[in-house]
Amino acid sequence: MAELSLEHVGKKYPNGYEGVKDFNLEIADKEFIIFVGPSGCGKSTTLRMIAGLEDITSGTLKIDGRVVNDVEPKDRDIAMVFQNYALYPHMTVYDNMAFPMKLRKADPQEIDKTVRETARILDLDKLLDRKPSALSGGQRQRVAMGRAICRNPKVYLMDEPLSNLDAKLRVQMRAEISKLHQRLGATIIYVTHDQTEAMTLGTRIVVMKDGVMQQVDSPSKLYSEP
Ligand code: ADP
Ligand code: ADP
Repeated sequence: MAELSLEHVGKKYPNGYEGVKDFNLEIADKEFIIFVGPSGCGKSTTLRMIAGLEDITSGTLKIDGRVVNDVEPKDRDIAMVFQNYALYPHMTVYDNMAFPMKLRKADPQEIDKTVRETARILDLDKLLDRKPSALSGGQRQRVAMGRAICRNPKVYLMDEPLSNLDAKLRVQMRAEISKLHQRLGATIIYVTHDQTEAMTLGTRIVVMKDGVMQQVDSPSKLYSEP
């Protein structure tokens, strides 16, 4: 289970710039929340604060009712999938996927089983020995997704995960992410510029502008307005 609660969350950067201002949002367990808004409006900053990669400078972030402002990223039970995949170039697909579990000192047999099962789900089982440089963009994105899934987190944060893929792959991966959401039963927060992605994937859509949350609504309500 993972409910998130952002209460008056703000980010003031050391140079004084307020990247996010008074952000208030309750995210229910298993929601698929989409963040949209122009470049620079604070989407990534919000995701990074939720992941613990960036300090929260005002307000409170709760996960399942517990304040996590000062909790280390590795103890938040959150996995992040980035636009540029952020794979380890010197490691094989297998080791990329296994790495977060190894960090947490999981049992080696458990790691092996999880990596192989996840690779099967994502159609990566024939590519386990390859390095990222020998993969296509779509395959790399699958590995990035697989690495997140192997951690079995309560919350996934995805920052434009499909933006580097061509149109056909995007449609394919979109369908896969939708299936994964149902299969994993996890809470997902997903940043995109793509209206089709927002409409087909999201349970709710958050619209941001200049560091402020402007609106939050269901896709049908948000996009049916004239
Ligand atoms: P988005 O993801 O919506 O494109 P970001 O969250 O990356 O936007 O950035 C929000 C705002 O904060 C932008 O105006 C950006 O320039 C600013 N910003 C991001 N990182 C820093 C930083 N380290 N110092 C100062 N300002 C920053
Ligand atoms: P370490 O990095 O800790 O030395 P490895 O990741 O090399 O460990 O190997 C741990 C186990 O994972 C191996 O015994 C093997 O069963 C499995 N393994 C590692 N890489 C692959 C791969 N490319 N394909 C299949 N199994 C692998």
